[in-house]
Amino acid sequence: MGITRCPVECPGCKTGIVLRLGVGHEKRQAFFYVCPKCQAATKGALIWDGGAGTRLELADGRKLKSEKHCTEVVTINPEIPAFAGAKSMAEPGGSAFITFFQWLGGDGIQQCQGAFYQMRHLLDSDWNGLSRLTTYYLNRDWKHYDAALEGLLPEEHRSVSADWMREHHIHYLYELLFSAIWVLDPGKNFMEMKVAWNALWSPDRPHFKNLVPFAQAEVNTPLFESTQRALFEQIGRYVNLMSAMFPGLLCDMLPEKHQPEVDRLRLFRDEFELLRDLYIQGFETSHKVLRWVIGTLNADIHGDPNRFLPVPGMNPQVANRPPKNLDAFTNLPNASKREWLILPTGLIQRDDRPPLPYTRFVQQVHRILHPLLACITVLKIMRIYSTVKWVDWYSLLLPGATGEWASRRSRPRAEEKAGRFGRDDSYCVAFMSEPKLRPPRKGHPRSGKCKPYQVKQVRNVITNYRLAGEADA
Ligand SMILES: [Zn+2]
Repeated sequence: MGITRCPVECPGCKTGIVLRLGVGHEKRQAFFYVCPKCQAATKGALIWDGGAGTRLELADGRKLKSEKHCTEVVTINPEIPAFAGAKSMAEPGGSAFITFFQWLGGDGIQQCQGAFYQMRHLLDSDWNGLSRLTTYYLNRDWKHYDAALEGLLPEEHRSVSADWMREHHIHYLYELLFSAIWVLDPGKNFMEMKVAWNALWSPDRPHFKNLVPFAQAEVNTPLFESTQRALFEQIGRYVNLMSAMFPGLLCDMLPEKHQPEVDRLRLFRDEFELLRDLYIQGFETSHKVLRWVIGTLNADIHGDPNRFLPVPGMNPQVANRPPKNLDAFTNLPNASKREWLILPTGLIQRDDRPPLPYTRFVQQVHRILHPLLACITVLKIMRIYSTVKWVDWYSLLLPGATGEWASRRSRPRAEEKAGRFGRDDSYCVAFMSEPKLRPPRKGHPRSGKCKPYQVKQVRNVITNYRLAGEADA
């Protein structure tokens, strides 16, 4: 990525300004610049022809033929936060890329760029297909869903011999799509939340038999359905804002000692309203999902989704007036809802007080991806447990049938097999663990059909989270 210098005249005070524009990866890179003299903002866009050529569009003011009468310099980079005051490459911070290269190291910046290219490639090739699949999924239109799946998953991953598999496939695809991001993100929030959540749905938990009826009672309610729809819509909006989000990942990757720099860096992208809306709505929807997280926790701890008992360390105002039941909880303000969350990691990013530097804001908005992904997983597991009536319990006990996603389970005792998991109240137990992800073996006849990104992604996931059993390692 290079930098192109464009001399312009401020439409307000007529100051000559050299815009140093970093060339990003999008065809049209919208930005705005703030005049250092009169502080007026002017919108513009850098049009990139895909090769060496660029062209500047300005909403106001005019382009100048030379830098001769320019007294100010503004550095703008659409993809890497930059020091706005940097006047040339020669000074420290003059190149956003080199600055990040120094902070993150060569490997770090390469990983991040690799993730960016991988995401762009995936989105170009498969996002339209995945969006359609999502529509069919939300409409419970399995005829079209099964057909749409063909273009997206290799055959060996595509079995729909049980209804729950359809729940699995779409979430699996979303996880793959975003794996480049959540694997790189040092916080690992999504993965931690997923593991903590899935561990609750385990037959060796003392009140497991109370969880399944809860899932069955909830999944077909209008609130559940509209929340699930909203989550996928918001993830879709995150995807549309991918390029705007990536600087957030870049900031998250900075080591702790460089984190204060984020407040000094500037991004001059023109997407504030879109990001703000996504953040607010993602934040709201994630809080709605707390109904099912807390209901499940209540059922897990007290045997009843509606039973709220104060937890030590809780805000006294909340602890003194525990909700009567889950519906009362649903009507609580967001902050009070969070008080009831005792998973190992919070589900929601804390809301900071304004004003926030935009770069910091992007960093926070980008992080909304983690709760959004965790929330679709919450609803997925609820749906799986609500729909599966009977599963071959013994298949669980076959070597390799359990993964590391969920907590370790013990072998059921004979009386459990006969009673708790008997014919009439047989609860689904097979799918707390994700089906095993296997990289295609070398020379496997189908490996050619598996799309390259999927193989690579699956490998990444397996390597990073040690998902493979010993046999696959
Ligand atoms: Zn001006």
